[in-house]
Amino acid sequence: MIRFENVSKTFRGNGKQVEAVKEVSLHIKKGEIFGIIGYSGAGKSTLVRCINLLERPDRGRIWIGDTEITVLKGKSLRKQRRKIGMIFQQFHLFASRNVYENVAYPLKHQGLTGQEIKKRVEKLLNLVGLEDKASAYPSQLSGGQKQRVAIAGVMAMRPRCIVLDEPTAMLDPNGRKEVLEAVHQLNRQEKVTVVLITHYMEEVIDADHVYVMDEGHVVMEGTPGEIFSQVDMLKKYRLDVPQVTLLAHELKKSGVDIPDGILTTEELVNCLCQ
Ligand code: ADP
Repeated sequence: MIRFENVSKTFRGNGKQVEAVKEVSLHIKKGEIFGIIGYSGAGKSTLVRCINLLERPDRGRIWIGDTEITVLKGKSLRKQRRKIGMIFQQFHLFASRNVYENVAYPLKHQGLTGQEIKKRVEKLLNLVGLEDKASAYPSQLSGGQKQRVAIAGVMAMRPRCIVLDEPTAMLDPNGRKEVLEAVHQLNRQEKVTVVLITHYMEEVIDADHVYVMDEGHVVMEGTPGEIFSQVDMLKKYRLDVPQVTLLAHELKKSGVDIPDGILTTEELVNCLCQ
């Protein structure tokens, strides 16, 4: 679905230069959930902003499907960009429009009938768990609910892939959980490919594939199990390993016979009981 080949991006200004992304090659497969984790300043945002050329790389090539986006400009670039929906920390909602109107807004000039719009908006509100909030205004919603409205609004345009750049950074634990559940639900039901940047490692436990970035490089990649079993490497890259994974790691070091890469309390309890 999305391929990067040796992509690099350097920011220049005020006599300084920052190499934000260095020679990154990766492959995001259709229909899967990809987590990108890494310490602040590792280059995660710059990397995902290259996907639809919000940042143009200095070197390397990027494909969306069979189309090389790095050679496109103007109208053909705008057409490809519509395939990727971007969601950020801040929720870009219209304060004077209710939830239904916020999600329906991008569909206004798409040549759809009122009935088609209604069907699509209601389905999306259902998938993100906000069917009972259709007539509420943003000021009446929690942070997690606002972010779910923003996600439904992006999904209304039927992107093939959604890129979420720290979508839960401003939320409390409850809001974080709701947003992640909504994202997983959309991935399952709408088959949308998901790229999720986060610095909460727990949030990528259920991803299909995880990339770890450090100082502009992709330094680790694999399934969550493969990544989380390398506790010492994760610490080296200044990442906060989940408590339960740390505990399992320490138990293993002191001789308890349990496998690497324990990700949940349930898994640890099961292993210890066996
Ligand atoms: P992350 O998302 O992992 O926190 P970023 O991609 O935001 O990392 O930043 C990577 C590096 O690039 C940082 O050193 C940051 O200061 C720098 N950077 C990001 N955007 C710009 C910009 N527009 N101009 C100059 N430097 C930038």
